[in-house]
Amino acid sequence: MNQHNNEQTEHNALRDLLSLAAASALDAGEQQRVNEHLRECGECQAEFQAWSRITGGLRDMPAPQVPAGLVGRTRARLESAQTAKAERWRHQVMLGSLLLFAWLITLLSFPVLRLAGDDLAGMLNISTSGVSTGVALYLLLGWVGTGVAAGLLGLRRQHEGRTI
Ligand SMILES: [Zn+2]
Repeated sequence: MNQHNNEQTEHNALRDLLSLAAASALDAGEQQRVNEHLRECGECQAEFQAWSRITGGLRDMPAPQVPAGLVGRTRARLESAQTAKAERWRHQVMLGSLLLFAWLITLLSFPVLRLAGDDLAGMLNISTSGVSTGVALYLLLGWVGTGVAAGLLGLRRQHEGRTI
């Protein structure tokens, strides 16, 4: 009778701990008490197993981990997209500057060539209009050449970007 009352008291005391035990949230002493009681009490055993299924199910559910991974992946994707955008922008600015610089050099060298052209024409004994045609061709070649060089540089940079 006394033994039965003790078990009944333990049963009532531990019932509330079963959910915590199933979630492994008890300290070692409490866990030991629960384990000992579970060996003797089928009712608590059944309830503990039910709680274990619930907490185990919660633990196994991938849902709580998905947002964290998704956030990380999304952030990484955004950052790489921004980096690519910045890289592309820097690349375009660089090519633009290069083209502008080459064009300026060509333009600036035009009067010099025109001045030298007259002497050149006298030296080579050809007409000034012939030299002007040469200068125009030089300008065109310089401009096209710069464009081709810039294009090749751009292709090479794009290729390097892909292989890295
Ligand atoms: Zn019990």
